[in-house]
Amino acid sequence: MASVLVVEDDQFVRSALIRHLTEASHTVRSVGTALEALREVAHIGFDVVILDLGLPDLDGAEALKMLRGITDVPVIIATARDDEAEIVRLLNDGADDYLTKPFSVEHLSARLSAVLRRSRATAAGAEPPSRVIRVAGLSIDPLRRQAELDGAILDLTRREFDLLAFLAGRPGVVVARKELLAEVWQQSYGDDQTIDVHLSWLRRKLGETAAKPRYLHTLRGVGVKLEPPR
Ligand code: CA
Repeated sequence: MASVLVVEDDQFVRSALIRHLTEASHTVRSVGTALEALREVAHIGFDVVILDLGLPDLDGAEALKMLRGITDVPVIIATARDDEAEIVRLLNDGADDYLTKPFSVEHLSARLSAVLRRSRATAAGAEPPSRVIRVAGLSIDPLRRQAELDGAILDLTRREFDLLAFLAGRPGVVVARKELLAEVWQQSYGDDQTIDVHLSWLRRKLGETAAKPRYLHTLRGVGVKLEPPR
């Protein structure tokens, strides 16, 4: 449960968001302009803001910058434009995650819980406890080091398991290659090929390919993410 501010001028998208979030037991407030959003965050402490990039009063990047000027609340940008360059720029400018419209309820919840988990883990200054990670048909038990796909045990190497567990622990979040190298390989440098090779082995075991991904998605020049199949 979280308190969410929805900033969206499209009445249809806005009602759908409010309905999904309320059904998931979140508390929701909504506004249709960036200036109203700024006024809201100045007065109310939200857990997360979902910010539409196509607002009538301010350009998305401008709105994000002004929000960041007054609060460090996690911001998920929502964009109709599937524009990788713009998304990367805004992620670098302080957005925590993004959704491209139209998005499914599953994507919305996955992004939301990932962002909340990260901000709460940071607030608590602790790693989340070891427990079984489930993303759609995938289930990963970090303690027993066992992974299953649709009930069948996956035969993974140590590295493949670590890679899968790391990505599945952040469903929907794009993880940069540099971060994967540091977290899974414990290296501060290395070539991308190492990651690509392990990813392709892992994909084969998950029964998917880079051209037809189900769980593992590569965003060229950005990183890799694991999310529930559409
Ligand atoms: Ca809009």
